[in-house]
Amino acid sequence: MRALRRLATRHAGPFERLYLVCDRLALALAPLLVKAGLERLERPAAVLESWTKGALFDCNMCGRCVLAATGMTCPMNCPKGLRNGPCGGVRANGNCEIEAALRCVWLEAWEGAGRMRHGGRIGELQAPLDHRLKGSSAWLRRMVERARLGSAPP
Ligand code: SF4
Repeated sequence: MRALRRLATRHAGPFERLYLVCDRLALALAPLLVKAGLERLERPAAVLESWTKGALFDCNMCGRCVLAATGMTCPMNCPKGLRNGPCGGVRANGNCEIEAALRCVWLEAWEGAGRMRHGGRIGELQAPLDHRLKGSSAWLRRMVERARLGSAPP
């Protein structure tokens, strides 16, 4: 899984383009999904999201996806779960102070961001994670929120 995660980071540019296409599609479908009712869609959406993003990004189903702002690297793979950049404990070789064999997730995020058109989003401040959302579909939440707001973030 770690190898696939690295692959996604190395090809963050194409993954970002795919993300933007899916995002536009999601925006178009959002009103329909709201009408269909969230409760009925939550379970299948969460399973599908877990399979696909689990395979590609080692997704932990945090419920509030920030991949597009973190170089297509899931920050929840950081042993400390940091969502706003690395801690002060990165080893001189770029590895994690907790898992010595693990390259710092944030170094990978930074490299991935450098390959993306909107890579500058890595500078966005991420809100504290709401742990009550764990296991729920971030895709669905994003679509519903956008349908209600009627606006499209980048
Ligand atoms: S940020 Fe959250 S939803 Fe996105 S890939 Fe990581 S754990 Fe999954």
